[in-house]
Formats: sequence, C-alpha cells, structure tokens
Amino acid sequence: MVGLTRPTGAGDIIPPVTSEAWGSQPTSSTSGVSPSAALRHILLWASRRGQIKRAVTSAPVTRDVVRRFVAGETIEDAVAVTRALTGEGLTVSLDHLGEDTLDARTARAAVAAYCSLAGRLADEGLAPMAEMSVKLSAVGQALDESLALDNARLICEAARAAGSSVTIDMEDHTTTDSTLRVVSLIRQDFPSTGAVLQASLHRTADDCRALGVPGSRVRLCKGAYQEPASLAWQRPDDIRRAYLRCLSILIGGSALPMAATHDPKLVEATGRLVSDIGGPGFRHEYQMLFGIRPDEQRRLVAAAETVRVYVPFGVQWYGYLMRRMAERPANTALFLRALVSRN
Ligand SMILES: Cc1cc2nc3c(=O)[nH]c(=O)nc-3n(C[C@H](O)[C@H](O)[C@H](O)COP(=O)(O)OP(=O)(O)OC[C@H]3O[C@@H](n4cnc5c(N)ncnc54)[C@H](O)[C@@H]3O)c2cc1C
Repeated sequence: MVGLTRPTGAGDIIPPVTSEAWGSQPTSSTSGVSPSAALRHILLWASRRGQIKRAVTSAPVTRDVVRRFVAGETIEDAVAVTRALTGEGLTVSLDHLGEDTLDARTARAAVAAYCSLAGRLADEGLAPMAEMSVKLSAVGQALDESLALDNARLICEAARAAGSSVTIDMEDHTTTDSTLRVVSLIRQDFPSTGAVLQASLHRTADDCRALGVPGSRVRLCKGAYQEPASLAWQRPDDIRRAYLRCLSILIGGSALPMAATHDPKLVEATGRLVSDIGGPGFRHEYQMLFGIRPDEQRRLVAAAETVRVYVPFGVQWYGYLMRRMAERPANTALFLRALVSRN
C-alpha cells in the first residue's frame, strides 16, 4: 500500500492495465467479477481520470482526509510533520511520492527531491531521527536496473552526508530479485541501508535467513500487492502465520528486525517473540504508516519501544491513495478503519 506503484506483468492477479482500459468506463468490465475485483478496477480507473482527480482533490473534505495519511505536497510539509512526530519521541521514514518512472528525467527529479530533503533534515537537526524510504521504480528500475542502482546510490550518499539513512521499499513480486540485488550492491558502500521483505510471499523465510546478518536492517511487512496464489499466501491467517515465522527467523538471526504492521495480533506477538527469542535489550523497531493507529504508535513509545512512522509526501498523493487502496481490498479497509478509529 505504501507509495509502491506496480508495474503490470505476467502472473499478476490484477489484469494488466492498458491505455485503452483506462479510457473505458468501469461498468462494462466489472460485470461478472467479484466485488473486490470490481472495487479494484473502479479505484484504478478513477486514479487515472483527470476530472475525478480534480473533483476529489479540490473538495475540502478530501483535503482533511488526505492530511490524515500524507504529510503534504512539499519538502517543508514533510519537515514540519517530521518535527512534530520526532518531538513526540517517534522516529520517521519519509517517502517522496512518485508514479512509476518511465523516463530518466523524472527519475533524476526524484533523486533531486530526496537529496534536497536530506539537506533540509540536516539543517533542522532531524536527520538522526528520520530516514528516507525509496522505491526503485521511482528512480528508474523499470528502465534499467543499473540506472536505479546509480540513482539510489546518489540518495544514499546524500543521506550519509546528512547523517540519515535509506530503506529501499519492496514492490510487487516481479521486482523482488532485482530489488534484493540492488540492495546488496548498495550495502557494499552503505551497509546501513534497510531492506524490506513481504511475509506473504512463500520465498520470504529464505530471504529472512539470507538477510539475517550483522548490521542488516530488515523491515518485515505483510506485502501490499495482490500476488498470485502460486507465489504468495492468500488467507489472512496464513499470512499472519507466515509473518510470525519470518519474524522469528529475523529475531533469531543477527539483523535489526523492523516489524511494519498495524495488526494488533502481530504487534502483540512481536513483543512476545522479542522477549522469548531476542532476550533483554534486543534491538528492534515497530513501524506504522502516518495516520494509521496513531494512538497505538504513542502507546508503544510510552512503553519505551522504538516506533518509526512512514510518512509519504509529495504532489502525487492522489495516485498513492487510490492505488494503495486498489492494490488489495484490505488496503481500502485499512484506510477506512483509520478514519473511524484512532487507537
Ligand atoms: C512502515 C510500513 C512500511 C511498509 N512498506 C511496505 C513495502 O515496502 N512494501 C510493501 O509491499 N508493503 C509495505 N507496507 C504495507 C504492508 O505490506 C501492508 O499492506 C499494510 O501494512 C497492511 O497490513 P497490516 O499488517 O498493517 O494489517 P492489515 O492486514 O491491514 O490489518 C490486520 C488487522 O489489523 C487490524 N487493524 C488494522 N487497522 C486498524 C485500525 N486502524 N484500528 C484497529 N485495528 C486495525 C484489523 O483487525 C485488521 O484485520 C508497509 C507498511 C508499513 C506499516
């Protein structure tokens, strides 16, 4: 769900989206499909319609809702939210929102935004509490893996100069190998670079073992993408079980595990696993999205836990919200639940 745009590819459950599909009305293609598939189709369709975007983005109620989940459009908005959150004892990971980047110029603009952000975080003395989350698709992965690697390195250099660091987000399964390859190359020069693994993928227990090495920071999430049943667990309970299996491997290894979930059962189990397997003083983090379960974030801080809030910002927020909701029906539920509850 998080700022992670998905290239379409063979094997995806969401049908590949063509420009013709975007131009058509949703009603004709949603008949005879499940409600969640229909919802997904409508959200994706709406995410591309200029008129709907204008109507949604200019409505006052939308601005209030968006401000719950997105820091704002500018670097200064991101800095202001970071200042407020870190003032309450939280740490932050900032995501500059971008669409799938299909040209080198847009990729360079994303790099420039991250480098400016790093500079501002340093100026404000916020860099030690605020890392940056980067999607390789935003810096050119779909064009050329080595372009994405070079661009990600530039961001890591700026982060290091500022006294901050970077985590590379994970996108859909068609990019997993490429992303892990890039992370491993970046770590040769920037060993503190964080990796992300998605518990719903069958492969992830093995990836947890491979990344469970000293100095490795690993964010474990459920996974925001609708992946095929041949590659990923589908039922919520199976995903939870896989999450706990993967988290146990990470806690039993030598990495710094970062448990990225709002799921009350998993948050509670994380505390138990840390004390059973990790023992006293074991270093780990909880991570949650900006605007989702804010009271729980503060409760954990009050209990002396490290909590990192993932804060998206940038002008591309409309696509972010619509696509995150479209990627998985559970994502829509996540945002809707957050609107009616604060705990
Ligand atoms: C910091 C962070 C970074 C992420 N990075 C990535 C990434 O790089 N790649 C990626 O694919 N995905 C990423 N994700 C998204 C992640 O994969 C999931 O899609 C998303 O977090 C939803 O799963 P969940 O575990 O939070 O709980 P869900 O499956 O959404 O919810 C599980 C249960 O939690 C409870 N719940 C949820 N919200 C509330 C609420 N507001 N109040 C009360 N109860 C609630 C409900 O009982 C619900 O059934 C990230 C998530 C976070 C938090």
